[in-house]
Amino acid sequence: MVDTFYLHIEFTGKNGCSINLPFLCTKCGTCCTIDDFLTAGKIKSLQEYPKVKAKMNALSDELGKMWEEDEAKYDYYTTHHQCPFLVNNSCSIYEIRPEGCRLFPNTAFGMQTQDCKGLNSFKKMRATLKRGRRSKETCRFFEKASTSGRSDSVKPARFTEKQYQTCISRLCQAGISSDELSLFNFFNGRN
Ligand code: SF4
Ligand code: SF4
Repeated sequence: MVDTFYLHIEFTGKNGCSINLPFLCTKCGTCCTIDDFLTAGKIKSLQEYPKVKAKMNALSDELGKMWEEDEAKYDYYTTHHQCPFLVNNSCSIYEIRPEGCRLFPNTAFGMQTQDCKGLNSFKKMRATLKRGRRSKETCRFFEKASTSGRSDSVKPARFTEKQYQTCISRLCQAGISSDELSLFNFFNGRN
């Protein structure tokens, strides 16, 4: 199961219930340019990963040279080329990726992006679920046991079978994918 953020949505009023709506990254790679990587923060415990460190040093040397030769070329290159750790549209250093990568798009800046397919789908599902219903929501993060030793549990959701099926029906209207549906079921204790 993936580490990701999710909304815990409490529907208030008569017959209130709550539901968890997780974000699913579609691994489109759009947020993984060199520039994104360089602004995502440091990798912790880098000394324990010599291959990663060597790759970073090579990148740093290459970019340093480019910057000195031609700043415009540097800017274009870093914003139009993928992070060297993106392999087959997947992060090859997932467990130790920088904090900015781990949080994206759940940041003030990330939430404004129009390019994240997963986020666009998430926003559409959120709007469809909430349509015409009073609610309050909290954003939470789920992380399975990791290198940080952290392990979270998902906040339990509360609903009747009928309420759950209504949510599913709304999410289908919003075009939920089968992967998103599996994750949604997991986050709501349905598998
Ligand atoms: S470290 Fe991983 S998540 Fe971060 S930009 Fe590179 S490939 Fe993407
Ligand atoms: S832009 Fe969004 S969907 Fe694409 S890889 Fe980044 S977080 Fe995932």
